[in-house]
Parts: sequence; structure tokens; C-alpha cells
Amino acid sequence: MLIISMVEKVYYSYEELDKLCRDNGSIIKKEFNPDVILAIGGGGLIPARILRNSIDVPIYVITMSTYDENNVSIDEPRIIQWMDFSILRNKRILIVDEVDDTRKTLKYLVEKLTKEEKLLRNNLGFFVLQNKKKNKTIELNKLDVGYYKSGENVEDKWIVYPWE
Ligand code: 5GP
Repeated sequence: MLIISMVEKVYYSYEELDKLCRDNGSIIKKEFNPDVILAIGGGGLIPARILRNSIDVPIYVITMSTYDENNVSIDEPRIIQWMDFSILRNKRILIVDEVDDTRKTLKYLVEKLTKEEKLLRNNLGFFVLQNKKKNKTIELNKLDVGYYKSGENVEDKWIVYPWE
């Protein structure tokens, strides 16, 4: 991990993220044992694929953004592509994103999946590569999902991923 202090950016390599996914994949399999992986695109796509080396289950994809078409940060996450969740009812779903920053995205997703799609809160698990240590829009105990794991808890700096 290369830290450039002037701009407060942290750069990760593919090798570091690959190791985070592989190390955590086997733990998640034991602790949560998901039936499917749900990748949140774009950032969750590559981590989800690497995780499948340890958790050999089908990958589904939705895409979301917390930025509008002009790249301006927005309050409510925007759905770019959704899917038919009726095929995942009663399945244990590991939702994969690259980073838990404000937790806006996870909160929005859990509410939508439980209220509109009628999925069970306990069947929802989360994996993020990095969880930023900061004030969140919701605490984990209030999010009240079946499982949550971060590859690591990091300082609140801007992370630059190798695929960017
Ligand atoms: P949230 O604030 O909802 O937890 O995060 C929303 C999204 O903002 C993440 O999925 C990610 O796409 C983006 N994001 C937040 N912090 C960072 C960061 O440090 N680096 C990058 N590359 N994206 C980030």
C-alpha cells in the first residue's frame, strides 16, 4: 500500500486486494456460507470475481452510483441496473462492494431489498474490501443484517483502486 500524504490518497495494488479477497473468502464461506454472491457494480465486480475462487457460488450483479450523470455526489444512491430478486428469495446473499464509506449505499440497499423485494434481513451478508473508520449513516447493529465483514478497517482517506 502506497500512501501519498500530500493528497491524502491511498493506492492499492491488485496483489493486495487479491490477498484480502482470498484470505477473507474462506472465512466468509465458513461463517456465512452464502448461496450466491451479489456484486455491486462497478467497484464490487472484481472483488466478487476473486471471492468466487474461495466461495464457488453464482454471481449476480446490480449497479449503483452515489454520483449523478455530471459526477456530482448525490444524497440517495442511484440505481443504474437492478435485477429480478424473486429468484433469490430464501437464498443467503453475500453482497460485495469495494468500500464502506458513509454506509449510505448499504443502508439504502438493505431497506430496498427487505421492504420492496421482501428478502430476509438475516439472509443478507456484506463484504467490503475496506471499511473506513468514520461516522456512518447507520450503525451495524441497527442495519441488523445476517453478516458483515470488511477486509480491513482503514483511516478516512480517499482510496484509489488499481482498476481506476
Ligand atoms: P458509501 O458512502 O455509500 O458507503 O459509498 C458509496 C460509494 O462511494 C462506494 O461504493 C464507492 O464507489 C465510492 N467511494 C467512497 N469512498 C471511496 C474511496 O475512498 N475510493 C473510491 N474509489 N471510491 C469511494
